[in-house]
Amino acid sequence: MHNIDIDLVEMTLDVMKYAIHRITATSLELGQPKKEEELKRLVGETVTSEGIGGEKAFQLFRDVLVKATVPIDHPRHLAFVPAAPTRASIMFDLVTSASSIHGAYWMEGAGGIFCENEAMKWLVSLTGLPKGAFGVFTSGGTAANLSAMVTARENWRKDSKNIGVRGLVITSVGAHSSIKAMAKVIDADIILVDSENEMTHDHLVKAMDALSDEKRKRLFAVVATGGTTNAGIIDDLDGIATVCENENLWFHVDAAYGGGALAADSVRHLFNGIEKADSITIDPHKWLFSPYDCGAIIYKNPELAKEAHSQEGSYLDIFKDEGAIGFNPSDYQIQLTRRVRGLPLWFSLAMHGTDKYKWAVEEGIKLAQLAGEIITQSPNVELVRAPSLSCVLFRRKNWEPQDYTDWTYKNHKAGFALVTPTKWRNGKTYETVARFCFINPDTKKNDIIAIINSMN
Ligand SMILES: *Cc1c(COP(=O)(O)O)cnc(C)c1O
Repeated sequence: MHNIDIDLVEMTLDVMKYAIHRITATSLELGQPKKEEELKRLVGETVTSEGIGGEKAFQLFRDVLVKATVPIDHPRHLAFVPAAPTRASIMFDLVTSASSIHGAYWMEGAGGIFCENEAMKWLVSLTGLPKGAFGVFTSGGTAANLSAMVTARENWRKDSKNIGVRGLVITSVGAHSSIKAMAKVIDADIILVDSENEMTHDHLVKAMDALSDEKRKRLFAVVATGGTTNAGIIDDLDGIATVCENENLWFHVDAAYGGGALAADSVRHLFNGIEKADSITIDPHKWLFSPYDCGAIIYKNPELAKEAHSQEGSYLDIFKDEGAIGFNPSDYQIQLTRRVRGLPLWFSLAMHGTDKYKWAVEEGIKLAQLAGEIITQSPNVELVRAPSLSCVLFRRKNWEPQDYTDWTYKNHKAGFALVTPTKWRNGKTYETVARFCFINPDTKKNDIIAIINSMN
């Protein structure tokens, strides 16, 4: 298994051929799921005591299994938050794997962690956080949000009267599901501030005024969103920062999706106030064109994260030794052993330069504006709200929820597009509407027109 023989050499060539083909592909098939039983019927037993051989296993993957996946970088994949990793970053993901680097501690991973940190410096510079702010790459936005919430809570519990007290977090109804899920993980209560669009200073003040004394004492953090996943709405970050500062609350900004837009001059002003955050989540695997999985958590004061996350163990003491001094990513988030998952971003940034990143993010924003214009001019559809960042919500006149579902499946089955419906509040009820989220600069005007025409 660890030997080199002719089979391995052939396998390597096959794998490289596949990778080159995929990385350079300009037209992709939109794969679709099959039922597990059907996949099993098609590939049979793959894990056996004897092994089925690399050639066979790879053939099954290439000819059957990968076809039952949706390529996230398909230009007509506009559902959820799509992705469009650069070809350079995908290539370097291969290199990252081939290099077998332990990304937890400087002692083992110095050269790789150095690269990650160079990319991180650029990310931090986009936020405008003061000197000293820094961050680490995580498995995604969920892990980043959890790392921030643990740091906030531990910091709050330095005050002995908070030890053993159940925490409370305020966020908005538009916050990502992971905020609610991670509040469960840290066993904190959560209050969702209701607002039609962004959460403002006044919404937050009103919610805090309504708290009982007991609840106010338990409140330790406010989570604002820098681009809601559903609609691209950015909370009033500056106003919320002021409240947090006055009330001595941790201010976290979840910009997992929207964070990439910090690079875009056309919308950067919408994020004013983000530079006052205590922590910020940004997912490079969403709008900064990195392959999965790559999130990031940035702290105004990384020392607080270190106090919360640094792990102790006799087998880990060596890393604190003189000879091992350097930046240890594991000290600042929840994961110990980790891949140097920021490397693909670093390579692509180094290769292309940050101006190209600005350009590519602006393209997503332009596509959303363009879709807005096309929708406005089309008789059967209308905008639900003006496009925000790269999200567009629109309705097909006279459609029931089932019509949206049928339309989604029809387009997906035809291998044409993957665009899914969402819900938007309309008065007291939630209306099913269609949603575009643009990330991929390769999406074309004709793609948008064709998708809208598919609703006729
Ligand atoms: C996608 C998203 C998350 C979750 O990130 P993962 O990388 O999927 O874990 C959190 N917050 C927001 C705003 C998001 O858009």
